[in-house]
Amino acid sequence: MENLNKLLEYQKVDIELRKVLDEIERSDDSKKLEQAKTEFNNAKATVTETEKAAENIISFYNSALSFMEECDKRTNELADKMEKTEDIEAQRELAAQIEKIRDKLSELERKLSERSERADKAIAAYRDGQERGKKMRAVYNNVKERLDKFKKEKEPKIAELMKKLDALKPDIPADVFEVYKALTAERKYPAFVAAIDAGDKKHYRCFCGITLSQKAQSELLDKGQCRCENCRRLIYK
Ligand SMILES: [Zn+2]
Repeated sequence: MENLNKLLEYQKVDIELRKVLDEIERSDDSKKLEQAKTEFNNAKATVTETEKAAENIISFYNSALSFMEECDKRTNELADKMEKTEDIEAQRELAAQIEKIRDKLSELERKLSERSERADKAIAAYRDGQERGKKMRAVYNNVKERLDKFKKEKEPKIAELMKKLDALKPDIPADVFEVYKALTAERKYPAFVAAIDAGDKKHYRCFCGITLSQKAQSELLDKGQCRCENCRRLIYK
């Protein structure tokens, strides 16, 4: 128990510090800030995605354009040939080729109008993403400003408590401190707890509510401390 005295003093201050930090971490503004961050990232993802879609559409338009130019050139060539020949059979053959090119062009036209719908959708999604992103950034900045102000108000108190902790720490045995740090890393406050009489003056309970096993209890009576088999807290008497 003696080796725990300093630690218990440390714990008292540490719990006070935890409360102040919780006030900040669990404040509505902290939650809102996280939310704004997530929504901003979602909006950003939409913008990136639609930018990619737009690139695809543009490259499709460009290849369609060069295909159309190619068709135009080829049609003119075929028409020239048709004018120069008197052979009916050859004219028929050339006309069939021109017809084929026309079919291809109308197929392309159909695809282009489909793409145009898609392009409109991509543009709308892009604008929406940008708009949402802008809004979320404004919300984020606003909340952050408030939260920073709140943090600043708490800073002197935090600094004072941390100074106290630093002053207490050198007197705590290293192994005891290690146990304490491991428990508090799991947010178990208090980590070191006094054994609670279970009511029958024969058994003890832990802070978590569980009654100590025979083994833990004899260790407690023997060494003045034991670990809870349920929550791992250090129990002292
Ligand atoms: Zn326990």
